Amino acid sequence: MRMLSRRSAVLASLGVAAFALSCGGEAKPPATPAHASHTADSAKSSGNPSGVEKSALDPSTSPCDDFYQYACGGWIKTTEIPGDEASWYRSFSVIHERNEEILRQILEGYAKGENAGEPYAKALGDYYGSCMDEAAIEKAGIQPLHPWLEAIDAIKDTASLTKLLGRMQYELGTGIVFEQSAAQDFGDATQVVGMIWQAGLGMPEREYYLESTPKMTELRNKYEAHVAAMMELAGEPAAKAKASAKKVLQIETALAKAWMSKEDRREPKKIDHRVSKADLGKVAPGIGWDAWLDGARAKDVATFNVAQPEYMKTLGAMLNGAASTSPKVSTADWKTYLRWHLFRVSGNELGQKFVDEKFRWRQALTGAEKLPARWKRCVRTIDASMGEALGQPFVKKTLGSEGKQTVVTMVQAIERAMHENLEKLAWMDEPTRKAAFGKLGKIANKIAYPDKWRSYDKLEISRDRYLLNTQRSAAFEHARQLAKIGKPVDRSEWQMSPPTVNAYYDAQLNEMVFPAGILQPPFYSNEAPRSTNYGAIGMVMGHELTHGFDDEGRQFDLDGNLVDWWSKGVNEEFERRAECVKNQYDSFVVLGDVHVNGKLTLGENIADLGGIKLAYKAFAAQNAPAAGGSVRSEFTPEQELFIGFAQGWCGKLRDEALRHLVATNPHSPPSFRVNGPLSNFPEFAKAFRCEPDAKMVKKDRCEVW
Ligand SMILES: [Zn+2]
Repeated sequence: MRMLSRRSAVLASLGVAAFALSCGGEAKPPATPAHASHTADSAKSSGNPSGVEKSALDPSTSPCDDFYQYACGGWIKTTEIPGDEASWYRSFSVIHERNEEILRQILEGYAKGENAGEPYAKALGDYYGSCMDEAAIEKAGIQPLHPWLEAIDAIKDTASLTKLLGRMQYELGTGIVFEQSAAQDFGDATQVVGMIWQAGLGMPEREYYLESTPKMTELRNKYEAHVAAMMELAGEPAAKAKASAKKVLQIETALAKAWMSKEDRREPKKIDHRVSKADLGKVAPGIGWDAWLDGARAKDVATFNVAQPEYMKTLGAMLNGAASTSPKVSTADWKTYLRWHLFRVSGNELGQKFVDEKFRWRQALTGAEKLPARWKRCVRTIDASMGEALGQPFVKKTLGSEGKQTVVTMVQAIERAMHENLEKLAWMDEPTRKAAFGKLGKIANKIAYPDKWRSYDKLEISRDRYLLNTQRSAAFEHARQLAKIGKPVDRSEWQMSPPTVNAYYDAQLNEMVFPAGILQPPFYSNEAPRSTNYGAIGMVMGHELTHGFDDEGRQFDLDGNLVDWWSKGVNEEFERRAECVKNQYDSFVVLGDVHVNGKLTLGENIADLGGIKLAYKAFAAQNAPAAGGSVRSEFTPEQELFIGFAQGWCGKLRDEALRHLVATNPHSPPSFRVNGPLSNFPEFAKAFRCEPDAKMVKKDRCEVW
């Protein structure tokens, strides 16, 4: 759970799905012909001259009435969500599926000893082989967890409990009750400090424990049954397993009450609590820090950021079994809780019964009908563990150098559009405008794949011990993070693997990153016209760029420091404009009583509004005035751009997945990501000649950038 970075992706992970489905939580490559930009000839040869997928349209709906339905209705009608998925997107999912198939071929080859000279071929092949060897996994049973179960049994007091929590952080890569990682210092972006972040819950968010709606109550009951089932599989008699589950729910509910909300976690100033090691006990009392740091081998870390001090205070009292806390948690209770979390984090690497039970819970959360094929789960695990090893052969197979060059040119065009927009922005004063130019000019761009690949030399992988491989990988990554603390920031690092179908902006690094995984059709194609390329990937670029200036990103300066560079009046005007977006999205109805959460999704919505505007302006600047009307198709180039944008977001979500997304995800559901920005954008209404009273033309339109 790496929510620590101030990173805004185009698509967040669905959390429970292994696949970061999207645009932003949590991308790739085209092969290219000899000319960088689209020509009518190459478009013709693709057989799809307009870049618009006509079969995806619903011509019975007016584009001025519901543009998402118009652009995606045909696709929605004929598309079924695959049984093993909670949602399905015309672009993200299709590219992701294609990428996974490529990764599968690479890994199967390595497992058979092919291409043995390539970097990490043996480790990758062995990892994949160990994951696919279900017989060995069944035979091992829960034996691989015995050392940890014995360590939990040996806890005798708060000190030994705390030390074990530290050991779990270091050796399993998870601190269970809180997570320690590396993060840039908010006040000094050149420095890396130890980040302490709230954790401890088995459900996705605090609301799952605290809200009393019928849906949440039902999910809570299912969760308790799931914990009991896992504990029974782990060897507890049925009655004891039920009692264990009750205890786990009690403890997690108490932790959830102390959790900082997801809305507050988006506010950098609320999670900025820098302390020296000596002062940890003042900010987070009750935790035996010496014992914890010893277990976590983090005694050398001099400076921490305790992101959620209130949570840590509650946790400290609970770890001590303080009488004042409710519930009072005994050492025996903590042992039960830790056993559960050990099986929770390891369940997918154990035998089929555990995997099936974990999937039953995922089903309740997301509505997915069947477990993804074994090979898919193996590919996802290895991409998550060794992404920059697996990414190397992937990039070779998929990315042409010319495609990369075209993408670089597009990013530059988007940045120019932002510059021109800033020049004219009436609500800016000159000092703030100048600072904004400074920030824009310093944004770094990373395209396709890293210049320097990460080393996995010290990661030991064995052919026949899958669970151990995943534990070692997690520990390896944790050690890598730990080693960064106290050193200058490495600005060359990537936070997504090259095959990832996503992109992100990082406010503390002031950089945009577009992995090779998303630079593929239908998001980007050398064969498609510029219009749809700008609508699809150009909008993603504009979206990421705008993140540098959304409600969160704007709090950081050109170097990534949390520094206020806004003059007072301009600041107030930004707030007013952001409030307009918040209120508008709050009013969007998703499902029955469920509305979009305007505050949680504010940054993404501002980025969506800015993204399509920048894509349009960058395209218009290149297209005008010679291009005129399109000879390619029945659509004007502007119409193609908007359809290209909307068709990038065609998606279907099961009801459960939709609820899950709204409850946890800072992105709005797909239809609002299309209709929201377009109904606030006059150029859209002009392109489709919408009447002033059309549904896609907002009377009180919002505009931030
Ligand atoms: Zn985003």
